[in-house]
Amino acid sequence: MEFEDGFKPENLFRQGYSYTYDDVIFLPGYIGFPVDKVDLSTKLTRNISLSIPCVSSPMDTVTESSMARAMAALGGIGIIHSNCPPDEQAAHVRAAKAHRFPILSNPIFRSPSDRISSLDDFATSPCILVTQSGDSKSKLIGYISQFQWMELPDGSKEAPLADYMVSSVDFVGWDSDLSQIVEYFDAKGPKVDFAPVAGRSGEIVDVVARADVETLRGYPRLLGGGSVGPDGELMVGAAIGTRESDKVRLEHLVKAGANVVVLDSSQGNSIYQIEMIKYIKRTYPELDLIGGNVVTMSQADNLIKAGVDGLRVGMGSGSICTTQEVCAVGRGQATAVYKVSSIASQSKVPVIADGGISNSGHIVKALTLGASTVMMGSFLAGSSESPGAYMVQDGRRVKKYRGMGSLEAMTKGSDARYLGDTTKLKIAQGVVGAVADKGSVLKFVPYTVQAVKQGLQDLGAASLQDAHDLLKSTLRLEVRTGAAQVEGGVHGLVSYEKKPF
Ligand code: 5GP
Repeated sequence: MEFEDGFKPENLFRQGYSYTYDDVIFLPGYIGFPVDKVDLSTKLTRNISLSIPCVSSPMDTVTESSMARAMAALGGIGIIHSNCPPDEQAAHVRAAKAHRFPILSNPIFRSPSDRISSLDDFATSPCILVTQSGDSKSKLIGYISQFQWMELPDGSKEAPLADYMVSSVDFVGWDSDLSQIVEYFDAKGPKVDFAPVAGRSGEIVDVVARADVETLRGYPRLLGGGSVGPDGELMVGAAIGTRESDKVRLEHLVKAGANVVVLDSSQGNSIYQIEMIKYIKRTYPELDLIGGNVVTMSQADNLIKAGVDGLRVGMGSGSICTTQEVCAVGRGQATAVYKVSSIASQSKVPVIADGGISNSGHIVKALTLGASTVMMGSFLAGSSESPGAYMVQDGRRVKKYRGMGSLEAMTKGSDARYLGDTTKLKIAQGVVGAVADKGSVLKFVPYTVQAVKQGLQDLGAASLQDAHDLLKSTLRLEVRTGAAQVEGGVHGLVSYEKKPF
């Protein structure tokens, strides 16, 4: 028997309000399976599958090689930002894909005749790799760790590396998994703390520290084998703009092995984007392409007709964003995701709900309202994998997080996203801020994913497909009044500590 209880999504979203995630709440369904049976595998684009629905945003304080490697290892994907020269962006794509261990180091290469003058020489890595010519291209002959160098007797520290390095020509292969790296360390014994990693073509591309292996073993188990492409490498995406110069950038990215390209624009329904979509589909028919951003059905329809394989949804919902204030356009993210998904699903184009995610409940809402993945900025910023150094602000460890439409980021080049012209006056559509140190995404994303599974279980959905089917059938939701939102959060306590896991 059907009860008159709650709103059907199509009725709620046709009332003329722009709803955010916090405005709405789902009514629970029926649980007929354990939480571990909830399968979050999904599609990023028509042709790319992921085992978790999480994507890191192409922002210069969120996704470079380290974040992209970690997100792919977790089963999601990272999109490398384009606020840098094309060769730098391509180098990030290559570094992220170079091997499968989730933690990226930044190896330093020296030749046997080089000398180490101070600890500063270990600035980017605790291990210096010694090769014949002092770069990654030639044969590995040994290494020296920061600790080993500090332990040298005074007087020896100034000698050429050849005099005291640990001679070792051994390495692990690019496709080694955690257990193979553990085997390497077990075979080498306790004195060896670093495993150089050889890339596909045999040159040394990175180094894995024993300490990183131990750290990783202390984190929740990685979810599946990671997002691996047809070539066996981790999958990585990259952002580009719609200017003529972006065609050259794209060529660099394709050569570097980017698996998917995101056309990064705050208002994607433009002649520039549509022409770029057509150019890319003509020139690289095999390359998966995500268009956006869009928030309406008609914007989405235009980009779908132009040929995109995925749609990025969100305008003005980002935590660092001022577009709605400055330009008076945009849409509440819950409404935008629901409306765009309802048309995109007819063409089987997956939707990425971009921006406005600040907790696992928001992810459940985005996915249940029709999205196939969520793209996150602030949620992932401040982690060990995000670019930039930690600082101390008011006694808290923080990292910078800035909008790509902030004046600071645009001065570095990202004004293309906001259709800015370098010769015109720059108007900011974002701010520069800071977010707290969150530790590693390898630790907190698995907890978040588990929380999302619990949300879907409460709804009675054992998969994203189930959730999308519910959306079209029995799912009911309501708008939360201001008081309901207060009630739905922690309230009435003199003090409390909120520990998510
Ligand atoms: P968050 O996850 O922090 O809420 O939002 C991240 C998203 O905000 C990005 O993926 C991007 O779509 C959007 N974004 C990034 N920088 C800016 C900006 O400066 N202005 C605006 N309007 N949106 C931004």
